[in-house]
Amino acid sequence: MHRSKPRPDLRVTKSSTKTISEGACERSRAPFDFGLAARSCLVGASLFFGLTACATNAAADPAVTAASPSPIEQFQAKEARLFEIGYRLGTANASYCDNGQPSLGLLLHDVRAYGQAEAIRSLLGLRGDIGVQAVAQGSPAQLAGIRQNDTLLAIDGQEIEDRPDTRKDWQRAAKLRDTIDASAGDGSVMLAWIDASGTRTEATLLPVSSCASTFELLSGDDGAAADGTRVLVGESFPGFAYTDEEFAAVLAHEMAHNLLGHIPYLAENGKGDMRARNSERDADRLMPWLLANAGYDPAAATRMMQRFGPRHGGGLLRRRTHDGWDERVEFIATEVSKIEKFRQEITGLSVDWRTNFEPFLKID
Ligand SMILES: [Zn+2]
Repeated sequence: MHRSKPRPDLRVTKSSTKTISEGACERSRAPFDFGLAARSCLVGASLFFGLTACATNAAADPAVTAASPSPIEQFQAKEARLFEIGYRLGTANASYCDNGQPSLGLLLHDVRAYGQAEAIRSLLGLRGDIGVQAVAQGSPAQLAGIRQNDTLLAIDGQEIEDRPDTRKDWQRAAKLRDTIDASAGDGSVMLAWIDASGTRTEATLLPVSSCASTFELLSGDDGAAADGTRVLVGESFPGFAYTDEEFAAVLAHEMAHNLLGHIPYLAENGKGDMRARNSERDADRLMPWLLANAGYDPAAATRMMQRFGPRHGGGLLRRRTHDGWDERVEFIATEVSKIEKFRQEITGLSVDWRTNFEPFLKID
């Protein structure tokens, strides 16, 4: 396994308490590839902080339970879908990524980071503060029997409540993540959790390899972007209405930026001389390869662009860094043909883009 910095899927917010108290509306830190020029109530924040910062967010009243899912549950469903598809893309392509990370397929959250922790604990049926936000299909976490809205109790035999370094603030989740990261990097993590009925279970989880890119849902945004290590998707992103494979295509485009090292390269060398445009072309062109390995139809990348492009990718909103959507479709279709040819010649479903994909943007 290639490892740069082990980072399993325990995704926590990295925002500061300053952001919470200010609740200021700022531009997102990463330019959106998909979606319009959205303004965000929060920068790089998740629901946990979005609840407190965006006063108009309907999720601010999590105790309201009607027949339809509450905003909290809707957010959880979106985050679980994002996490599921991201896990699938990341693990299926792990053998071709330069940088990998161990993954448990487990996404945790800390209810203390919400504005109304007790109400959210009650709504989700949690028995403690550290809830299971999502478990990916076929992941080590699922195979161990962990389910959404179970509650994490202990890591490597140490009860979370007894940990001296876990103050009940936003830093706690980050510290728990680091603890799990460290154990996963050593090859295994022992977790104890409790379900809604009160049954406690303990198991040792063996992480699997994944490409080094996490997937995070942002409150108050409607775009999708990559920042080098994370794929960031706004909760109002139109792609949530797409089929799984077309939504996966968007995520694959953003993940491609991270896998191909575009973000630090452009930051260091600038976006001129076709560098930004070629990075976009390469992210588009790698999409179908990433999809194919994850078991999605690679042509879904073409369909996504045909759906998204006419509505969002042309006219006044077109940016100079991106080709027109019809040109993007052509670039993607060329790669889809290559993949189909490759599959006819090579036995097996996996397509080695590390060897067979030729980037326009040359990064050493
Ligand atoms: Zn892009």
